[in-house]
Amino acid sequence: PVLLSVEDVSKEYPDGNVRALDGVSFEITTGEYAAIMGPSGSGKSTLLSILGTLDRPTSGTLTFEGAVVDEKTDLDELRSRAIGFVFQSFYLLPTLTALENIQVPMFGRGMTVAERVAKAHELIEAVGMADRSKHLPKQLSVGQRQRIAIARSLANDPRLLLADEPTGNLDTVTAAGILELFEQLHTEREMTLITVTHSEEVAHAAQRVIRMRDGRIESDQSNLAMN
Ligand code: ADP
Ligand code: ADP
Repeated sequence: PVLLSVEDVSKEYPDGNVRALDGVSFEITTGEYAAIMGPSGSGKSTLLSILGTLDRPTSGTLTFEGAVVDEKTDLDELRSRAIGFVFQSFYLLPTLTALENIQVPMFGRGMTVAERVAKAHELIEAVGMADRSKHLPKQLSVGQRQRIAIARSLANDPRLLLADEPTGNLDTVTAAGILELFEQLHTEREMTLITVTHSEEVAHAAQRVIRMRDGRIESDQSNLAMN
């Protein structure tokens, strides 16, 4: 089934004289793993923001799980329950332990402490960090922090994970570990993943590569034949 689609989406910023996006259309199927690539300024971040409903298109339509996203959509609900975000910087809270950071999105969701802690343990295990649960962010390596941030992004069982340069700050070996984790989320949890990246390694790991140029899709290719 189709998880999300964009149809003829364009974006003009109020003060911009360029079209950041110019008639972009594609569909993402549930369980798909897609990479968005392209030169700087080609519209990747703008596209990811629109997919995550952090920004709205000037024209065109975003549809998520069959429902058009519009003025009537409860965006807080959609963002916090359905969509997980992973960024290049992790924004972990420095005074909270790894396990506590993972629980942050679960607050205000009517969960008991026991439920929250159990869920956080499950997630910290899933990202291979169970032995670091009591560490503060500063006591973790950069790659370990990214793992905790990924666990946190999964706190509310999103159906879609959006990542913006998730390996951008990481050395090659650490980046490879994060890629393995994404692969695992994709195969074992059937997570739908869309990641913006400059990395050919990430693009190779994904099933599909959407290349942007000047706000348009330049190419949209399946990797399945290659992998
Ligand atoms: P990428 O992520 O591929 O580097 P962006 O989506 O950030 O590309 O930018 C696409 C185009 O939109 C660029 O020309 C950029 O200068 C412009 N742009 C991005 N954000 C804004 C903004 N807030 N206001 C005006 N122009 C913007
Ligand atoms: P706010 O700054 O209050 O979050 P926005 O400017 O992001 O408001 O959105 C204004 C209206 O546009 C909201 O009612 C919202 O439901 C709607 N909206 C937000 N994102 C999208 C989208 N991707 N497609 C269509 N409508 C959207």
